[in-house]
Amino acid sequence: MNALAIAVCRSCGRTFFPLPLACRQCGGSDFDSVRASAGTVEEVTEVTVTRSRIGSVRLDAGPVVVAQVGQSTKPGDRVELVGGSKITASRI
Ligand SMILES: [Zn+2]
Repeated sequence: MNALAIAVCRSCGRTFFPLPLACRQCGGSDFDSVRASAGTVEEVTEVTVTRSRIGSVRLDAGPVVVAQVGQSTKPGDRVELVGGSKITASRI
């Protein structure tokens, strides 16, 4: 399991996920990579085809990440994210 890495603009400090080609705020192209794992669920959607649930999670560091969430996860829950080819959110 990998911790999620977000990009922080070296010029203005804005955070992004995933890494952009250029900062949408200042146009800068130098970024630091920072571990970010905890966040708050904003919305949850049921995917009927795959019988899974996905949620948008507002990371404490700023960006919103879409992740697979558990069956009982609901908006407002605090979650921890692990990345890789698929991002998974587990309640904390
Ligand atoms: Zn910037």
